[in-house]
Amino acid sequence: MTLQNQADATEDLNLRELLLCLSEYIQRHGASGKPFDVLRGLITLTLERIEKGEDLKISSTSLQVEADGGVVTEKSPGSALSGPWKTLTERTLVDREQGLQKFFSQHGLSHYLWPVKDKSAGGAGNPSMYYFEMRPISSEEDVGTTEPTHSSTMISYIPEITPRPAWWIKKLLEGGYSLEGWRRWLLVGFGLTSFLIIVMFIAMAWIVLVYSDNLSLQTIVTTILSTSLVVWVCYSLISPLVRLLDWRIIKAPESMVSLREHNVLMELVKEAGGNTKRIRLVRYAGICPICSGKVEILEGKKEFPNRFVGRCEESPAEHVFSFDRVTLKGELLR
Ligand SMILES: [Zn+2]
Repeated sequence: MTLQNQADATEDLNLRELLLCLSEYIQRHGASGKPFDVLRGLITLTLERIEKGEDLKISSTSLQVEADGGVVTEKSPGSALSGPWKTLTERTLVDREQGLQKFFSQHGLSHYLWPVKDKSAGGAGNPSMYYFEMRPISSEEDVGTTEPTHSSTMISYIPEITPRPAWWIKKLLEGGYSLEGWRRWLLVGFGLTSFLIIVMFIAMAWIVLVYSDNLSLQTIVTTILSTSLVVWVCYSLISPLVRLLDWRIIKAPESMVSLREHNVLMELVKEAGGNTKRIRLVRYAGICPICSGKVEILEGKKEFPNRFVGRCEESPAEHVFSFDRVTLKGELLR
């Protein structure tokens, strides 16, 4: 459903609610930078148009001026917007779409907003028009069943972003690694191979150290060092895997995550409507019910062993919440 010519007052009211929700989302989970400036600008202008009862499609000129804080660009507004717009719609929001849907559904809404550009109106002297499209929240997300929590000790989380994998594992991990078919066997093979290498190297070191005659100190040191190195490498490769199978969620190994990402978790999720499991990268976040600071999910360390907890950026030692990745809810822990 597009928004052009929506004269109907109730529809506008609905859109207004969605815009306010999106605005709140950006405030809490957005970032600084041009793409979000453009999105903020589009929200402000659309809200103004609703108030005035005007057409909800925004021209590139109006949007550029709004996004740049009133400064008129020397380039054409369309080309000034094209870079940030592309990043916004093809990357920034795509990485956040799942969390965006969750956020809207946690606010009891059945639709979420997506910015679109009217290409048909393009061409010289006929600037592109920008507006919001209402999209239904996909059935995977349980619409409206997760009411926002208003108590000061309860917190709701959203999967804030789908982090990018590191370049070398991108092909395998992007969009999740489904544990079926050859992918399943590849992983099993990888685990077994690492394990066998460990066993083999320990056995070889044992044979060298126990059964050779006149061992030089140098041979002993080299054997022990090289064996430890290989065992350590293989162990650090399989231990995250074992922990993932055990605990369903772990801190993602740094080597598997793109350098730009931070605070990334790796979790094992059930494929929607099936029994197949999928490994995916994710970053969860919530808003502190005490101080409205951002709550990030971190390892519980010594105080909460084998657990992930939500820690508020503003008061990390005091505003600590439990984190349940299934219900996406948590409670104040102290
Ligand atoms: Zn707080």
